[in-house]
Amino acid sequence: MKQRILPIFIPQYACPFNCIFCNQKTISGEKEEVSLDRIKRQIEQGLKINSDEDVELAYYGGNFTAIDMTFQERLLELANSFERIKSIRISTRPDCIDDERLRLLKLYNVRTIELGIQSMFDDVLNACARGHTAQHSKNAMEMIKKFGFLLGVQVMVGLPKSTPEKDIETAKILTSFSPDIARIYPTLVIEGTYLAKMYQRGEYEPLSLNEAVERCSQIKSIFIEKGVNVIRVGLQPTEEINYNAKVLAGPFHPSFGELVDSEIIFRKVVERLHGKKYSKILFMVHPKNYSKLVGQKKSNITRFKQLFSHAEIEVLYSSEQVGRIKIITESNETVVDISGL
Ligand code: SF4
Repeated sequence: MKQRILPIFIPQYACPFNCIFCNQKTISGEKEEVSLDRIKRQIEQGLKINSDEDVELAYYGGNFTAIDMTFQERLLELANSFERIKSIRISTRPDCIDDERLRLLKLYNVRTIELGIQSMFDDVLNACARGHTAQHSKNAMEMIKKFGFLLGVQVMVGLPKSTPEKDIETAKILTSFSPDIARIYPTLVIEGTYLAKMYQRGEYEPLSLNEAVERCSQIKSIFIEKGVNVIRVGLQPTEEINYNAKVLAGPFHPSFGELVDSEIIFRKVVERLHGKKYSKILFMVHPKNYSKLVGQKKSNITRFKQLFSHAEIEVLYSSEQVGRIKIITESNETVVDISGL
């Protein structure tokens, strides 16, 4: 049976840190106290939607394993008391993982642990006041895998002190720990954060939208190539760091993930067709991926026309597999694999 994720946000609960990009402490006016009653109410409400589906409950937005162990246990017991909740996922920090905490999570049916890694470079982590090192992340990933949990990693691009090379290298290092899922977030300047002060003082320049799309597309490609399921690229208004937040600056776009997928497709197609002249290029694409192929405002088609200026370009729907684009030219027929996007 289909299993959907029911997210329950516990904003910065029990988090003793104040990462410079995170708003969760400062936007506290909007947040309700974390209590078992409040969470029980939210779960009951969430379960009313699509009442025939099994559910994985996700405790997001805080630092779950830093919560007092007794209260962690209460939260886990609560989730387990609902028959339709078949498993639990949590998000937390790498330095809040140890054997005792992992044993508790295992006991209470936690299946997935998402770690806020952000970067594998200590100077970047320091500049962001993360309060942990890359070694903490390595240790945590190893332990999570050893205990048999699904491992999720969250990375951020464009943080202070980071560079394109460090962001790319972070993704490569992470793949060596065989994560199961990944999220990629471009750094945004959120109102009320220390990063916002740095931005206002001219000490931090966010990535442009194009830079962020380019970098995230490279990182997503690295993850996909190693079999990591990328479940999110870019922030959604209801998710994690920008929970109830106002974005002051940075590469925010409501369809950021689609922009990244379009960029990946563009590169793959160019790589495949590069170096030849064509008079006709026909793309056969599944309807689900049509907009990713042509790009926002047909930007990919415009770029294909510039690159292959002698070719007549046509895009047709095809009911073939979702993860493939067939390209037919006057001289050959080829398939580009876009599975994982
Ligand atoms: S990003 Fe995570 S660890 Fe950092 S302050 Fe926010 S909730 Fe705490």
